[in-house]
Amino acid sequence: MLDTRPLLLQTDFPAINRSVLETLQVNLGYKCNLSCTHCHVNAGPTRTEQMDRKTVDLVLEFYSQTSDKNPRPDWRRSRDKR
Ligand code: SF4
Repeated sequence: MLDTRPLLLQTDFPAINRSVLETLQVNLGYKCNLSCTHCHVNAGPTRTEQMDRKTVDLVLEFYSQTSDKNPRPDWRRSRDKR
């Protein structure tokens, strides 16, 4: 993975500060067809790590508690039938 922090420090890119949660992006695994040098999770075709069920449930619980959006209960039902 390319360390971009030294490059960023040479610019006038503004500081990043935590604010209100508006978007929740979840990386479920590191397997990807590509292996971009800028990838922030170092994903690639040879990576095999996947989020386990317990962590998926924690993410869904967090999402349901912090958002007024529907956490896709239809997806959970179809997943539980497997
Ligand atoms: S940035 Fe990472 S996850 Fe996105 S396409 Fe490239 S290797 Fe895949």
